[in-house]
Amino acid sequence: MSSPASLADNEQVRAALDWFAKNLAWTKDEQVRLTEIPAPLFQEAQRAAAVKLLLAAAGLKVHTDEAGNVIGELRGANDKEVVILSAHLDTVFPAGTELKVRHDAARMSAPGISDNGTGLIALVALARAVHEARIKPQRTILFAADVGEEGEGNLRGMRALVETYKPRLRAVIVLDGSSTEHVTTKALASRRLEATITGPGGHSWSDFGMPNPINALVRSSVRFINTKVPATPRTTFNLGQIEGGTSVNSIPFEAQLKVDIRSESEDELVRLEAALRECVAAGVRDEMESARDRSKGKLEWKVELLGSRPGGELPADSGLLAALRSADDYVGNQSRIERSSTDANIPLSQGIDAISIGAGGNGGGAHSLQEWYEPAGREMGLKRALLTLLGVSGIVQEKSR
Ligand SMILES: [Zn+2]
Repeated sequence: MSSPASLADNEQVRAALDWFAKNLAWTKDEQVRLTEIPAPLFQEAQRAAAVKLLLAAAGLKVHTDEAGNVIGELRGANDKEVVILSAHLDTVFPAGTELKVRHDAARMSAPGISDNGTGLIALVALARAVHEARIKPQRTILFAADVGEEGEGNLRGMRALVETYKPRLRAVIVLDGSSTEHVTTKALASRRLEATITGPGGHSWSDFGMPNPINALVRSSVRFINTKVPATPRTTFNLGQIEGGTSVNSIPFEAQLKVDIRSESEDELVRLEAALRECVAAGVRDEMESARDRSKGKLEWKVELLGSRPGGELPADSGLLAALRSADDYVGNQSRIERSSTDANIPLSQGIDAISIGAGGNGGGAHSLQEWYEPAGREMGLKRALLTLLGVSGIVQEKSR
């Protein structure tokens, strides 16, 4: 482990830190170019190809893995140990969304400009700065642009990276968005569940009295939303999407409900998931019991897991956190610890040191069509990320010349 002060004594590290100020215009232009390449979840290949070229131009040995992650390798003196620097490629915006970046003074606006245009271009900028300053790390550094971070991607890209490199993996630094005011060291555990209730379905008049899946789902939902959740550990649920039925004068044959549950405690998640199953079972039972004509068929139900993000926490005495704190000191930044749901969930849940940080500048409106980014302060964010990275990878000190 090297402290940033001693790191910055190194001539090559200083050259890498200076690279950012000299290349702010290039960084901005490339951020715009990447943001305008569509990358909906599960369709990240086109943006991935563009990042691949940029990482290759930064002198890295680059390949694409089976999941679709682009991985650029900078081999360290000790290749038995690996540090991953990552930024997700995917956006929440569907294919066909207008992505043209609008410029208004210093502000750039476009869906995905900050989340994760800022993180992606920072990944490339760090790779170039390290390459052009001819820094040789101790541990091998993998610069990874990964897929499937958002929503139903279920962190599949990061899952694949951790799976592949786990025996050698010592730390993961995730670049996501722009804010340097926080560091995510705690992974918020969450689950996404889908309840489905089905029945025979029929005519609203002639089959009246037949058990109705929407009725059953409403009964289930009312039971579930009355479930008590603790304030500490903070635990939340959201009935986010409800679907079913085909017309107003038909008894539906199907009704579906999507539920998102989150908690600081894995135990509470388990309890809430069990509560949802109980409520759906009970709602179906209530509907069957009150059906006027049970001979007209019965209801079936199931609750399926759509996605699960495991929880975890970076130990307070971890070398990675110490490296981030020293980097903050060096650049004059202050950041508070946050709990959130990010790519860092996967390594943290497996006991591997990981953090998620913003890559500098200011952004807002993430996941909306009004998303914006302003690059003032980007240089500080990039330096902070670089010093944190080199703090955990270590560098090979050149013999005095
Ligand atoms: Zn993001």
